[in-house]
Amino acid sequence: MKLEGRTALVTGASSGLGAHFAQVLALQGAQVTCAARRVDRLKALVAGIGNGARALEMDVTRPDSVQAGFDQAYDIVVNNAGVTHDGRALEISEDDWNWVIDTDLNGVFRVAQAAGQALVSAGKGGTIINIASILGLRVAGNLSAYATAKAGVVQMTRSLALEWARHGIRVNAICPGYIETDINRAFFATEAGQALIKRVPQRRLGRMQDLDGPLLLLASDDGAFMTGTEIVVDGGHLVSSL
Ligand code: NAD
Repeated sequence: MKLEGRTALVTGASSGLGAHFAQVLALQGAQVTCAARRVDRLKALVAGIGNGARALEMDVTRPDSVQAGFDQAYDIVVNNAGVTHDGRALEISEDDWNWVIDTDLNGVFRVAQAAGQALVSAGKGGTIINIASILGLRVAGNLSAYATAKAGVVQMTRSLALEWARHGIRVNAICPGYIETDINRAFFATEAGQALIKRVPQRRLGRMQDLDGPLLLLASDDGAFMTGTEIVVDGGHLVSSL
């Protein structure tokens, strides 16, 4: 077990990738704190995970909520909470724009900063894994706020890696392609969604398990010399033919 004796915190763990990441880390021996707003769902999750897993209420848009969650210095932090808004840039409201940026960009920074501060105070290193997206590296229509936030996360990852390497803190990102979860299920049921799958070189959506290898590489000592980088897991979507 690669993560025996390590503590981990996963944000947005109440569904989708976050719930999956929490299970994968726990299976490798980590004691996982599952953080999200929907504590009822977290309680069911941690009961299934066992191994000392605990549920923690955290809203990444609220600085006080994030700070309160870092009562300890986690060895591994998976910065996963995210939202999306589908709408044309000409029409998106300031509120919708701010909601996406505040969750997907500012929220990721709040959590990373709190994690970094706790680790530096404790005098130990750690690993932070930011869940960005292939939309942080390329664009698609009607997702301007999301793509902007995720591009910011990629660049933030590099900046924090540079500043915190001296503290033994590694900061990396995973850029998943399209993986079916609550965030996009409705879209993939539409004609446009089905057409999108045909443009992925591997002609399929990703499965949550496709992210397990990259997650464990970055979470464990196997990735000890990796920091400030992003791992793309997308079935070749970024290299689709022009
Ligand atoms: P999801 O909607 O199932 O999960 C997002 C989680 O974040 C939910 O549990 C939600 O409650 C939580 N969340 C939202 N706002 C929050 C807040 N203010 N505070 C705390 N938690 C909050 O979708 P998912 O696909 O599992 O997404 C997880 C991450 O992966 C997101 O950052 C998303 O952008 C990213 N991602 C997903 C895909 C994909 O295809 N599914 C692709 C690339 C990146």
